[in-house]
Amino acid sequence: MIRFYNTLSRKKEVFKPIRKNSVGLYTCGPTVYYFAHIGNLKTYIFEDLLRRTLEYNGYRVKQVMNITDVGHLTGDRDMGEDKLEKEAKKERKSAWDLARFYAKAFFADTKKLNILPPHKTARATVYIKGQIKLVQILEKKGYTYQTRDGIYFDTSKLKDYGKLAKQNLKELKEGARVEKNPEKRNPTDFALWKFAKPGEKRQMEWASPWGKHSFPGWHIECSAISTHFLGQPFDIHTGGVDHIPIHHTNEIAQSESAYGKPLARYWLHGEFLVLDKARMGKSEGNIITLQKLIDKGFNPLSYRYLTLGAHYRSKLKFTWKALLAAERGLDNLYHEIALLNFLKNKKTAGKTALKKKFEKDFLEAINNDLDIPRALAVLQNLLRSNLSPAIKLELAFEFDKVLGLELKRGGKIPKLPTKVSAQADRLRKRVEALGYTIEDTPEGPFLWLKRI
Ligand code: AMP
Ligand code: ZN
Repeated sequence: MIRFYNTLSRKKEVFKPIRKNSVGLYTCGPTVYYFAHIGNLKTYIFEDLLRRTLEYNGYRVKQVMNITDVGHLTGDRDMGEDKLEKEAKKERKSAWDLARFYAKAFFADTKKLNILPPHKTARATVYIKGQIKLVQILEKKGYTYQTRDGIYFDTSKLKDYGKLAKQNLKELKEGARVEKNPEKRNPTDFALWKFAKPGEKRQMEWASPWGKHSFPGWHIECSAISTHFLGQPFDIHTGGVDHIPIHHTNEIAQSESAYGKPLARYWLHGEFLVLDKARMGKSEGNIITLQKLIDKGFNPLSYRYLTLGAHYRSKLKFTWKALLAAERGLDNLYHEIALLNFLKNKKTAGKTALKKKFEKDFLEAINNDLDIPRALAVLQNLLRSNLSPAIKLELAFEFDKVLGLELKRGGKIPKLPTKVSAQADRLRKRVEALGYTIEDTPEGPFLWLKRI
């Protein structure tokens, strides 16, 4: 039995998929106008853990992710400039090249973090027709109105607008007032479709029923793309907590009004990575990219390991010290696995009852709303147990299907050249002078590259 905390109900609920053995999972993807920061990547790691957990339970998962390459304005509330057009001007590139470049960089980063690629990724600019169609449906049903700068969704037509955020309409309205648009009927109304400003020459624009030079609003792509690939309703929708009051609230308003049924059954949201108390974000001016970690000599998987230590619904404070501790922790884990590989052939009878207990504990942890910190503790207890090396390895590799720490690769036995073993003692002194250790084990000397 799997339980997830559903933002819709603010409760942990037993997960029941729509179809028996498969799960439709939608993940809001990146806006590709710059490199992802490690805060964004924390959210993608959480979504990867979710997918891996479902697969570990035997479900066939279909994961769909959009790539926002148009229409996300500098303010989340339909005012300001298009992030892509703005950055393209600054970098003197075409918006199309920029999108391609940063989308590629995003997938390179996620690969380094061992995040599995979604089964389907869809760029917003490729699904323009479907988005226009959706706006037309809403128009026909009377949910829209037109202003000088676009087609807007009238949120006062819905009784339950804001049900995901569980904020009352007053709070939502206060939030929406930050960016004033005098033509909006209600502060919470949002753009479905936007018109290029008079005289503005946009690089990304389309002819639509509402004008020659127009482009989609930010939220419509997710409604169109998710339903296109997964149907409606589908099982699970995910993103970071910042998406709750605006982006996901508006996706729900659009999709549910258009088709008269729920958009998704379970809504899961990852908490922020914070730096010096502030949320990490481009507009906060405090971002750190994965490349910066790599440039400082860190293994990207140490960052994955760091995020695994906190529950996805808790804020995680980033410090370099914590990252260093995570790197040491992961190194130790690899060390233990390598040592087990070295000892594997030593015959010890398998204690199956204990083995089963660890399997059960691990499954219970991940199925309890992805309690990965507890799952890591189960792994540690397993390694400390008196089970045979072979069984420990078998289970550790099994658990790593969810954790994604590359224990097989990281825990390979380093090869000792014959000349080296012949002169082990002399070498040991020299090696230690260089800051490495050679350990003695019942099976012989064991070389481990370890910072001391
Ligand atoms: P964006 O590219 O801005 O649409 O964001 C991509 C994903 O990262 C979304 O799911 C956001 O909710 C999430 N996100 C943004 N900032 C943070 C942060 N500081 N910590 C964790 N997730 C974040
Ligand atoms: Zn989305």
